[in-house]
Amino acid sequence: MRPYPSLKSILVELFPLHRTLASDDHDRALEIIGAYLPAEAHYTIESYPPLAPAWTWRVPERYVVHEAYLEMEGGERIVDFRDNPLHIVSYSLPVDAALSFEELRPHLYFSEKRPWAVPWMFKYYERDWGFCLPKEVFDRLPRHRTYRAVIRSEFRTDPQPGFTAATAVIHPEGGPAPETGEMLVLAHTCHPRQANDDVAGVVSAIELAHRLIEKPLPPGSMSVRFWFGPETIGTIVWLSHHEDLIPHLRGGIFLEMTGNKNLIAWHHTKQHNHLLDRVTHAVLRNLPHEEREFAAAPANDERVVNGPGVNVPCISLNRWPYEEYHTDDDNPDIIYEDMLVEAAEVAEQIVRIYATNYIPKRTFRGPLFLSGHGLWVDWRENWALNRAIEKLMMRFEGQHTVFDIAEQVGLDYWTVRDYVEKFRIKGLITRLPIPSEAQSG
Ligand SMILES: [Zn+2]
Repeated sequence: MRPYPSLKSILVELFPLHRTLASDDHDRALEIIGAYLPAEAHYTIESYPPLAPAWTWRVPERYVVHEAYLEMEGGERIVDFRDNPLHIVSYSLPVDAALSFEELRPHLYFSEKRPWAVPWMFKYYERDWGFCLPKEVFDRLPRHRTYRAVIRSEFRTDPQPGFTAATAVIHPEGGPAPETGEMLVLAHTCHPRQANDDVAGVVSAIELAHRLIEKPLPPGSMSVRFWFGPETIGTIVWLSHHEDLIPHLRGGIFLEMTGNKNLIAWHHTKQHNHLLDRVTHAVLRNLPHEEREFAAAPANDERVVNGPGVNVPCISLNRWPYEEYHTDDDNPDIIYEDMLVEAAEVAEQIVRIYATNYIPKRTFRGPLFLSGHGLWVDWRENWALNRAIEKLMMRFEGQHTVFDIAEQVGLDYWTVRDYVEKFRIKGLITRLPIPSEAQSG
């Protein structure tokens, strides 16, 4: 039993919060996520002091908005942060000023394509201030009036509560197998009042975590580490504070925008033809999908995980593009439970293959006495496997993974893995881990 009636119900809870790089509502979101993850996942929220260095970046300040509104002189309120956090540009500087329309104009943002919608804008680093409103409202603003812009915001640098991100780890049956390493599953938490981008990815990841508890990965598999936090800067801050983890990471899946009614799309790793690309390709073979280059739009945390000095192969799964993107139309109305679940299923299949895969290395010499070791496969029971036995045994030289061998002989991964495991249990092969691509600096 899941601790939630549906994934969409969690999404609806997280959606309205003023989640940004670092804020009280962002912390609240991380707490909610933890409450829905399985207890066995050892969920931990970490905090980093603002302004601390993080590779070539620095940890962002915490953003506090006490109030924010735009009024016409005389008191008629045009937009109010209380109604919708999208009404201000994220990380707006404080302001309290009377302005002519001409002075105000450069601080107003709207969407030409969706004139009824409030766009989401952010200026985290080139600090400025601004308001976001529907184009239809903008068009009606009198040009000769005076306006009052008020944003009472603060940028807090206290070490606590600081900038936060969270992780959870699910180990295979029998506990972690350190030499095998870990897979990383990421989803970001930082866009205020956006549903598909990326609360959708967060709830698909929660579903994946439950599936890995209900049906654990077999002993010796990779552990699966989940990561939740602000996009890009969040993974930079986290990885720069956990460099010791990087060599253990064997692959990553970035999950975002998984809830709208689009085909699923996957983006290659930077390596492009890595094992992880081939596994993903095989999993999606029978599902209509789109396939894109590494870091194609909307590129995100995969650029950090698979980026310079880290280089862990990382794919992205998403249902981008969609018209409502980065506007207040990205809300629960465009989210479908079956889409959220399907994305979790796709990620699950990729994880199950990638995390259980290994390189078999022969310990025997000469043609193997199959029936003497109980390894002969009756052709009446499994004709295809019977025909493939010779080809399989020629590939136990420590050069091919089980997945590659299955592809080469044209058999299903699990059929081959189950069979290869029988050799391993009898001591006829050893298991070599999938090599790490991670860089050490
Ligand atoms: Zn976004």
